[in-house]
Amino acid sequence: MSQAVPIAVSVVVPVYNEEDSLALLGQRLHTVLAGLGRSYEIVLVDDGSTDGTWAQLQTLARTMPHLRAIRFRRNFGQTAAMSAGFEAARGDAVITLDADLQNDPADIPLLLARMDQGCDVVSGWRQHRQDPLLNRRLPSMIANALISKITGVRLHDYGCTLKAYRREVIQGIRLYGEMHRFIPALASWVGGRIEEVPVHHHARQFGASKYGLGRTFRVVLDLFTVKFLLRYSAGPMQLFGKIGASFGVPGLLMLLIMIAGNLGYHLGWHNMAEDLVKRPFWIMTAFLLIFLGVQFVSMGLLAELQIRTYHESQNKPTYVIRETLESAC
Ligand code: UDP
Ligand code: MG
Repeated sequence: MSQAVPIAVSVVVPVYNEEDSLALLGQRLHTVLAGLGRSYEIVLVDDGSTDGTWAQLQTLARTMPHLRAIRFRRNFGQTAAMSAGFEAARGDAVITLDADLQNDPADIPLLLARMDQGCDVVSGWRQHRQDPLLNRRLPSMIANALISKITGVRLHDYGCTLKAYRREVIQGIRLYGEMHRFIPALASWVGGRIEEVPVHHHARQFGASKYGLGRTFRVVLDLFTVKFLLRYSAGPMQLFGKIGASFGVPGLLMLLIMIAGNLGYHLGWHNMAEDLVKRPFWIMTAFLLIFLGVQFVSMGLLAELQIRTYHESQNKPTYVIRETLESAC
């Protein structure tokens, strides 16, 4: 994020083929933001639109103050568009919302008020969501329950783009895949206070949704990554080591029992030896388990190396400091 001029509020909007809603969006944003009595900017990111979106943005930039537009060379996806917006944003508070007017700019003051009370992330909750039930709301309900359970940050509506973030919280977060929705969970990892507030939601008036059922699956896959990052990024061996041990130890035990059985055979315990040694299946299984165990432990060691490269090459600490204090005497 650039540091140049201090601004109170930045509004970041990802835009992909939304030519029909932009004029109205600009107008509504301007009305709400001008009424705040704070300095503001609007950062619109055109995510490689193929319709007249960029021309619309050029027109808006001629008529509206405090507006900046960024244009991608091709469609990189909503998360990338939001990342670019965060990078460009200069505000102490950063607010994101959709370009299609499904989110209501009139909710922005409410989010800011919560932030003034000390929240680091205020997440919109589309209590009366105006999207189809079967292919959008239902999968989203399941995804929200799953994300809440796995990340431990309980929200009703991870998918709502209308959210407000304190600048420090998103500053260090890098977003990949579909990960913009996980920012509240990632923010809680850096010690942020997260709250949810009910916001308005409208049916799409212009254009078409860019998503279908497929997104839910992509989100669930990203959830695994986020969980791994949150829980094990500082010590991946903890995870891989455990999995490795749960394969390797039983394998080793089986092998030991078979060796003991083999010895027993020579000591005259023929029945036991028949049972164990003469079944190639068990021998193979034991070796397979040991092999898997070794593989997982090696993978853990490699991941540990990777983590060190990641943190040390970027000078990235493995902790986040809120503030420091020195004695004044
Ligand atoms: N969007 C984007 N890049 C994409 C897809 C969507 O920037 O590849 C933007 C889109 O223009 C909108 C927001 O992301 O402002 C949410 O998209 P959409 O309204 O299609 O999602 P839905 O509301 O149906 O979940
Ligand atoms: Mg929408």
